[in-house]
Amino acid sequence: MTMLNIRYEKTTAPKELPKEDNPLKFGTIFTDHMFIMNYETGKGWHDARIVPYAPLSLDPSAMVFHYGQEMFEGLKAYKTEDGRTLLFRPNKNIERANNTNRRICIPEIPEEDFLDAIKAVVKTDEAWIPTKPGTSLYIRPFVIATDPFLGVRPSDTYMFIIILSPVGAYYPEGLNPVKIWIEDEYVRAVKGGVGEAKTGANYVASLAAQVKAHDDGYSQVLWLDGVERKYIEEVGAMNIFFKINGTVVTPKLNGSILPGVTRNSVIELCKTWGVPVEERKISVDELYEASNNGSLEEVFGTGTAAVISPVGHLRFEDHVMQVSDGGIGELSQRIYDTITGIQLGDIEDTFNWTVEVK
Ligand SMILES: *Cc1c(COP(=O)(O)O)cnc(C)c1O
Repeated sequence: MTMLNIRYEKTTAPKELPKEDNPLKFGTIFTDHMFIMNYETGKGWHDARIVPYAPLSLDPSAMVFHYGQEMFEGLKAYKTEDGRTLLFRPNKNIERANNTNRRICIPEIPEEDFLDAIKAVVKTDEAWIPTKPGTSLYIRPFVIATDPFLGVRPSDTYMFIIILSPVGAYYPEGLNPVKIWIEDEYVRAVKGGVGEAKTGANYVASLAAQVKAHDDGYSQVLWLDGVERKYIEEVGAMNIFFKINGTVVTPKLNGSILPGVTRNSVIELCKTWGVPVEERKISVDELYEASNNGSLEEVFGTGTAAVISPVGHLRFEDHVMQVSDGGIGELSQRIYDTITGIQLGDIEDTFNWTVEVK
């Protein structure tokens, strides 16, 4: 039973819904409402409300602006053909949000309240969920530290906010393999740091390498471990998988890798299909060898935004590795079709991954 008591203040000036043929560039359009809840030491989380989407007013000294104490999450809501609204494994995101909160000294949010908040705001703006193939409503919950104070310590006050953004098909022309730059200068995260937490700090650390890769015509950066600079960790803001000689290999969670919900779903699917999966260390050298001897069959990134992002070409220093024939692999396509099929209610959800918003 939930205790979350949400106050509603509906907009008096609803925006026009995006046109059906609008390509919906990721993260640019926001719905009419947002969820907000405040925290204060001694009082706990309070004043849950759904209010019109609008700019916030914050003190310029608010701690989030200076030391980056913030947590964020990302998940999606989907409209099924028969008109139901489904969330994909929201409890995984909620659990991870509280892991992030603990790591960066933000008070935890009761799991049931978190789920109620997501459901309530999605329900409020349900009309904004696009229905064309491949589209969805991206949900971005986040917490910011709001104490007006320039000293370094955990804040005593926070805001928990959920905003919603209708998003188009990630690959309107189908799954196109991308080119990846294996980064040998910068690192994203190290064990003991905040790499396994979903917090802005990891993204600011990644920008310079991303700019460098883009300038060279590469779409994403593949990160190596921060200590030996030998082992593969993640690609951009996605986890990474390799199919080598029939076995699916993904880097083992080691404290500097973000534990993706999609990553976990891919592993579970492979296990039920009887496809061998290994979570272990994998070095660039091993990858290079596999590419040379023809055993590197498929490479793909996984994340909520794209679900599966096939990789066709990797570059490390002066070496270029081509993956198979450069097209999308059979397993990559099967995983993509199955996960999106479950998300859209087209394939029976034998895992109980979807949660209906009623
Ligand atoms: C969010 C994120 C992922 C993917 O996680 P999903 O839960 O699958 O969306 C992977 N790597 C990083 C760095 C991330 O922030």
